Amino acid sequence: MSGASRTIAELLKDARNRFEDAGLDDPAVEARVLISGLLGLSSTDLVTRGNEAVADEQDQAVRAAIERRLLHEPVHRILGEREFYGLPLRLSPATLEPRPDTEILVDSVLEHARRLASMHESIHILDLGTGTGAICLALLSECPQATGTGSDISQEALETARANAERNGLGDRFATVESNWFEAIHGRFHVIVSNPPYIQSSVISTLAPEVKMFDPSAALDGGQDGLDAYRAIAVDAGRFLHQDGVIGVEIGYDQRVAVTAIFEEQGFTLIEAARDYGHNDRALLFQQKD
Ligand code: GLN
Repeated sequence: MSGASRTIAELLKDARNRFEDAGLDDPAVEARVLISGLLGLSSTDLVTRGNEAVADEQDQAVRAAIERRLLHEPVHRILGEREFYGLPLRLSPATLEPRPDTEILVDSVLEHARRLASMHESIHILDLGTGTGAICLALLSECPQATGTGSDISQEALETARANAERNGLGDRFATVESNWFEAIHGRFHVIVSNPPYIQSSVISTLAPEVKMFDPSAALDGGQDGLDAYRAIAVDAGRFLHQDGVIGVEIGYDQRVAVTAIFEEQGFTLIEAARDYGHNDRALLFQQKD
C-alpha cells in the first residue's frame, strides 16, 4: 500500500470502526490491545504518540491483523501471546487460551499451596492438561518453595509450556510429562490442579467462533455430559496426592454438584468453592477424607 503513512491514531480509529461494524463486543478495547501489541507500545503510548506516523510494514501488519480478527481469530492468538496472572505466556494452536476466570482457581489453590509450603520443606505441584502452563507457572511464580510438573497429552502444548517456563524464569522448577491424565505420572504431589475440558460435546458447535475455531477441541470437549475428564482424574487422584494434599479443578458454571459427587465417590471432600467474575461457580477444591 502506498500513499501517506498513517498515524497511530488513524490506525486505531480504522481498527475500532471495522470491529464495531463487525459487531464485536468491545471494539475500542480490542483495537487498542491489538495495535499496542503489534507496535510494542503501551496503551498510554498509543494516546501520547497518536500523531506519529508508522512505518509501512507496521501499517501492513496492522491491516493483516485486522483481517484475521474479522475472521474471528482472537486478538491474543494473533499476537501469539497473552498475560495470565501477570506472566506473559506464548500461545499455540495446541493450547487453550488462558482465561481471566482461571485466575480464580490459582487464587484459591495458592492459599493452600502456601499453607502446605509452610509445613513441608518444599512442595510439588502437578498440573494435569497444562496447555500453556498457565496455572502451574502462576503458582510457581507465587510460591518459591514449589516445584511443578505440567502434563499434557499434546507434545506441542508441552513445548509451549516449557517455553513459557523459561521465558518467566521458572524453567528450573518446572518439568513436563507427556501423559493422558495420570497415565505416565509417578510420585506424589501436595497440590494437583487442572482446568480440564468440560464442555458437553453437543454444545461445542454452539460456542463463539473465537472459541470453537481457535481453542483446541481437546481442551474443550468433556464428552457427552462434559464430565469425562473429572471422572478420569478423580478415580486416580488419591494415589498421587499426599494425605494432606489439595486438588483443585476448574468447572463449568453448572457443574458444581456433579463434579463434587464424582470426587466424593472417590473419597474426597469439598473444602472450597470459588466463584468467577460473573458470579458463577468456577473452581472446586478437594481434600482426601481422613
Ligand atoms: N472456559 C472455557 C470456555 O468457556 C472452557 C475451558 C474448558 O473446557 N476447560 O470456553
